[in-house]
Amino acid sequence: MNARTPYLQIASSGVHGLGVFATQDLPEATLLGTYQGRRFSPEQLSRRRWDDSLTYLFSLSNGDTIDGSRGGNATRHINHSCAPNCEAVEEWDARGRLVLRIYALRPLCAGEEVFLDYGLIVDESYDATDYRCFCGAVSCRGSMVAPAGTSA
Ligand SMILES: [Zn+2]
Repeated sequence: MNARTPYLQIASSGVHGLGVFATQDLPEATLLGTYQGRRFSPEQLSRRRWDDSLTYLFSLSNGDTIDGSRGGNATRHINHSCAPNCEAVEEWDARGRLVLRIYALRPLCAGEEVFLDYGLIVDESYDATDYRCFCGAVSCRGSMVAPAGTSA
């Protein structure tokens, strides 16, 4: 287990496959971890062929993409919810690199599953059934894709 995500624990989820759960009660705005993995520039990304690892890709606003399936930590298993209790925030780290940090949007209880709204930005030709959401929230959009008119 990655030492930098002490508040997170991976276990099977009621929503989808594996999920991530709070190990203890946590106050709002707690830093839960940094989304880690192999980094690709837009140029490197276009040269690669992607298969089923797509669900672990996180795109940053500077064009870089982080592939959590390679060298990632517990944060890559965080499931999507249309009513999330966490958010992913882009910040500059001490080395001047743009990173993605996961913060609690509200107080979390020990054992509570942690969710992000992926708000995926996808190609116009995407197949909506690939991104169907089953989070069960009252406000569920039925899709993990960002609502029209928003941008990450
Ligand atoms: Zn949903």
